Amino acid sequence: MALASSSSAFSAISSHSQEILKGSQIGSFRSLDRFILPSTAGNVSRRRGALKPVSAQAKRSKSVVPLAATSIAPVADLERENKGIEKEVDYEKLAEDLKDASPLEIIDKALEKFGNDIAIAFSGAEDVALIEYAKLTGRPFRVFSLDTGRLNPETYRFFDDVEKRYDIRIEYMFPDAVEVQGLVRSKGLFSFYEDGHQECCRIRKVRPLRRALRGLRAWITGQRKDQSPGTRAEIPVVQVDPSFEGMDGGIGSLVKWNPVANVDGGDIWNFLRTMDVPVNSLHSQGYVSIGCEPCTRPVLPGQHEREGRWWWEDAKAKECGLHKGNIKQGEVPQLNGNGNSAAAAATTENPDIFNTQNIINLSRPGIENLLRLENRREPWLIVLYAPWCRFCQGMEASYVELAEKLAGSGIKVGKFRSDGDQKEFAKEELQLGSFPTILFFPKNTAMPIKYPSEKRDVDSLLAFVRALH
Ligand code: SF4
Repeated sequence: MALASSSSAFSAISSHSQEILKGSQIGSFRSLDRFILPSTAGNVSRRRGALKPVSAQAKRSKSVVPLAATSIAPVADLERENKGIEKEVDYEKLAEDLKDASPLEIIDKALEKFGNDIAIAFSGAEDVALIEYAKLTGRPFRVFSLDTGRLNPETYRFFDDVEKRYDIRIEYMFPDAVEVQGLVRSKGLFSFYEDGHQECCRIRKVRPLRRALRGLRAWITGQRKDQSPGTRAEIPVVQVDPSFEGMDGGIGSLVKWNPVANVDGGDIWNFLRTMDVPVNSLHSQGYVSIGCEPCTRPVLPGQHEREGRWWWEDAKAKECGLHKGNIKQGEVPQLNGNGNSAAAAATTENPDIFNTQNIINLSRPGIENLLRLENRREPWLIVLYAPWCRFCQGMEASYVELAEKLAGSGIKVGKFRSDGDQKEFAKEELQLGSFPTILFFPKNTAMPIKYPSEKRDVDSLLAFVRALH
């Protein structure tokens, strides 16, 4: 969806820029051509004193709800509470109804429905667009952010810029000090490079987020489908949160709004430029997706933005837990730690993969021999895999095609099943981090070279081989 429709709405909004927003408007639906621009922030700020803190206690203490959350939210909605109407909202239907709506319309609807019980989750990146949209609705709004303690200095400065621009106080959520202390004292400051980002993210992000959401009935995220084809391709503009619960507790007690789900990243940037919104200075240094300093890096032209996050891990594991409902249930067991969970490894009834005459199935002695040789007759490309691993299954077609292309080229293509009993050996001797790991054994060098990218299409793999051969 393009932003053109929202842009035209902004013109109408601008023409009403002197209208004063009244507190009594909260909760009543109004058309979008009524608002203020420059003077909104001060009004919002004055009203903010009456808002509940984002970390207000939940009515129930039960935490993450099962993935089987229904699409019907049995609670929430100011309209219903205040007027006794609209017993249930079918959010699947609402998402369908709003799928062609502009982000401005969607955010207006969200703020109208949830009033003080909704907040924007702000990461310090281009999701500042959500704040700009919220301001344009003319309604009061709240913003919260997770301060993991590991953000870039530029992001903290950007937070300050945003607070000043919108005359707001961001409601920061901090991790539990004792939990952080326990992690860092036992495993060091950079354990995520060794055993995956899940544990650190759980402590520094997911638990603080869970606390924040327990003080709300709905939240607004900047998730977009084009951010991660692997995990975000199907997000609706509004849904019953599949992972977290809100202040009323229980399944379906939290609604998640994704107003820019269908918006292209380029259109977000056009919007930010048009509206002269301040942006994080890291963007001008090549960062696209912005998170914690040790886990985020700039991407090169043509690289996908999620390649700048947790680049040492599998593409589909790149949800820090904040949006883990995006990961389908069948994929979850493989995402523990480094992707080699015991539960997944035990599923040995999966048929073998990469079965073609062009791919040589190496045994343990075979790959040990290959490791020992300093002068090989020909180079080898080898995938370390597990047949149950979805990511390995996902690259099967391209690896088979690659083997066909390389047949007769002098480069051998092989596979080595590295789960179960072979896993420890593969981790120690073959640089196995997660499945699949792809290694190139050059002709004249003992050490294999690990394929560094998560792009596993034929062209990317061929480019890797050609660069080394
Ligand atoms: Fe920890 Fe990195 Fe996750 Fe930040 S992104 S919480 S530093 S693992």
